Amino acid sequence: MLPVERQQQILTWLKEEGTLKVSEASRRLGVSEMTVYRDIQPLAEQGKLIRTSKGLAQAKEPRPAVQPDHCVYCGKGTNTRFAVQLIRIDHGVEQACCAHCGLLRYGAIADEVAQIICRDYLTDATIGGRMASFLIDPDVRLNCCEPQVFVFASRKEAERFRTGFGGKLFSFEEAIPAIQERMDGTGCHG
Ligand SMILES: [Zn+2]
Ligand SMILES: [Zn+2]
Repeated sequence: MLPVERQQQILTWLKEEGTLKVSEASRRLGVSEMTVYRDIQPLAEQGKLIRTSKGLAQAKEPRPAVQPDHCVYCGKGTNTRFAVQLIRIDHGVEQACCAHCGLLRYGAIADEVAQIICRDYLTDATIGGRMASFLIDPDVRLNCCEPQVFVFASRKEAERFRTGFGGKLFSFEEAIPAIQERMDGTGCHG
């Protein structure tokens, strides 16, 4: 067997079995452990497998890099005044293009979120999302995701805004299922 054939065989076993001991690979291939180590060296360097205390393991898929100025939920740009930040418990920060995506993302990873930060639609003031009021689908265009979600620090102001522009008003907890319901599995670009 050529080294390249042994390397292929080792990768195949790892794919099927997840992990493999060097001694086991040596036994199966009928070569010394030294030879196995020599074979896997380039594979480890190329990130095709990893060496662990228990032997060899299949390389994990690299985590897709988070693009800081793209919405974590829909991929749109987040350089707008509607952008929402999710601060995770592990201190990671995720950006959403608008409250629509911010709330849906929150719904998906709620246990991992320490804080959700929004901006008041009228004053631009930064507010904690859990305290905010959310107006869904008033008759104003944000040109972001549908159904549109507007954030208000003050329930009173939100109600006045609704009197003029329509839509339905929700608290934080109510807003997430309300958006999901309106999406109807059609995605946020309706
Ligand atoms: Zn988005
Ligand atoms: Zn959006």
